[in-house]
Amino acid sequence: MLITTPAEQLLTGFPILETRCQYCKSTLGEGDPVSAYVVRYAGDDEWTIPHIYCRDCQSTITDPTLGATELLAEGHLGVTMDATTQRASLTLLEIERITKSAPEEGHVTL
Ligand SMILES: [Zn+2]
Repeated sequence: MLITTPAEQLLTGFPILETRCQYCKSTLGEGDPVSAYVVRYAGDDEWTIPHIYCRDCQSTITDPTLGATELLAEGHLGVTMDATTQRASLTLLEIERITKSAPEEGHVTL
């Protein structure tokens, strides 16, 4: 079954596991503006956010990967509380802008 949803909807509330900027290694927390790198590889159903950046470091996809759909979502980090488990997790909120790189873009790394 194919489910389509706007990227903003998919990514809002998406759990963020890595809380340090991939480039400058500064720790990011609640309320900080971030750019989240989102990727889905060809043949894979799942989207993942392998790393995030602070806004100073990244605001565009500089090195597209062939065969992967990549998004760079600019938003804020926020804390979402699960009422059932009483567990707070860091999530992506207030997404303002999404940059997309389609699978056919990019180059093969040999
Ligand atoms: Zn940074």
